[in-house]
Amino acid sequence: MEVELVTIGDELLLGFTIDTNAAHLARQLADAGITIRRRATVGDTAGEIVDAVQAALDRTGAVITTGGLGPTSDDLTKPSIARIFGREMFLDEEHVGWMQERWRARFGREMPESNRNQAMLPRGARKLQNNHGSAPGIWLEDERGRWVAMLPGVPREMRGMLADTLLPLVRERAGTGGRVVRSLTLRTTGIAESMLADMIGDRLMNWPSLSLAYLPGIDGVDLRVTIRDAESQVADEQLSTATDALRKAVGAGIYGTESEDMPEIVLALCRSRHETIAVAESCTGGLLGARLTTPAGSSDVFLGGVIAYSNTVKEQQLGASASDIEQHGAVSEPVVRQMAMGVRALMGASIGIGITGIAGPGGGSEEKPVGTVWIGVDFGGVVEARLARLWGNREEVRYRAAQLAMEIVRRRLSA
Ligand code: AMP
Ligand code: MG
Repeated sequence: MEVELVTIGDELLLGFTIDTNAAHLARQLADAGITIRRRATVGDTAGEIVDAVQAALDRTGAVITTGGLGPTSDDLTKPSIARIFGREMFLDEEHVGWMQERWRARFGREMPESNRNQAMLPRGARKLQNNHGSAPGIWLEDERGRWVAMLPGVPREMRGMLADTLLPLVRERAGTGGRVVRSLTLRTTGIAESMLADMIGDRLMNWPSLSLAYLPGIDGVDLRVTIRDAESQVADEQLSTATDALRKAVGAGIYGTESEDMPEIVLALCRSRHETIAVAESCTGGLLGARLTTPAGSSDVFLGGVIAYSNTVKEQQLGASASDIEQHGAVSEPVVRQMAMGVRALMGASIGIGITGIAGPGGGSEEKPVGTVWIGVDFGGVVEARLARLWGNREEVRYRAAQLAMEIVRRRLSA
């Protein structure tokens, strides 16, 4: 079954509110094997709501809306959609009674008059119970079986109503015979999208049910495999075969799955190998330390660090050589090696990480443009140094530098 989504609200068009309802609905419906053909966002204008819902109904005959069910004058969803179906609005006294009870019980006072608006329903509507608020959702259907389900805009109410009431109804309608959508994300970092595409080449199976998305982001490129419109067991098998093929193609470049974050992976690896980490950070200014201490319980692995921003600190705290700094610059291989070794010795860690680079926007040169970053890792006395040319603004360069430093540790420990 195919449905369309129409999310309603001026605040969505203005960008003040991010349309999380559409994302949540899309995921939940996909899990139930229901495809979203199209989605639209319109403002709080009756004409726009009518246009969007009418067009969607004409295409799929199945539409879900969110927003505009509140008690105030900008809430136009119900009368607009009632118009499409040629239905009048009436006051549902039963719902008024329920709301009055709820106000007395929860807030200890009488319900404001304007709330009566929430009990205005199109004739022939089916109410969808709201366990988290007072506006009911509405299911409206015509004699040809075309339907619109109207959900509240408030995300918590929308989610509750979707799970409690609408999904079971839509599932029953869809009669998808257990057909589902399944997907899995494999995470990579430090490998360009085009390079990944070359590595994967034609090693992925050519099933019509399968699609692969390359999703570049600040953490790196995520590979999202999706199996659509297959029976549950077949979908699971296909997904696992396809992800195996990807793992073979990309190999050690995959650091995690789904929403796993690099620090968690590195900390777990270190923990299982009884390694400890100390960091010496110049251009990242403590970001690596911050990320490595974000997961709770990282203190058994992460010992501490030095924010070695000035050359004096690099020399006096970490033992970097003044003449190397003079000769090669603070962003250089000899200096990053000394930072890594220095901090490892200072903190008594088994792994010392040094980062020095040019985050920008100023400070770049022809030889060392913005984004030039040296990363050094001292693994128990064996030092590895790597020159990276990172892209993006200052914030992105710093983030990518920290991410890459963790990736170097991960690759080494999992080799
Ligand atoms: P409404 O039901 O239109 O009165 O919406 C109530 C509140 O829910 C709005 O002020 C928004 O903060 C929020 N909201 C409405 N639509 C969405 C949406 N599509 N995604 C996330 N939040 C929303
Ligand atoms: Mg609204």
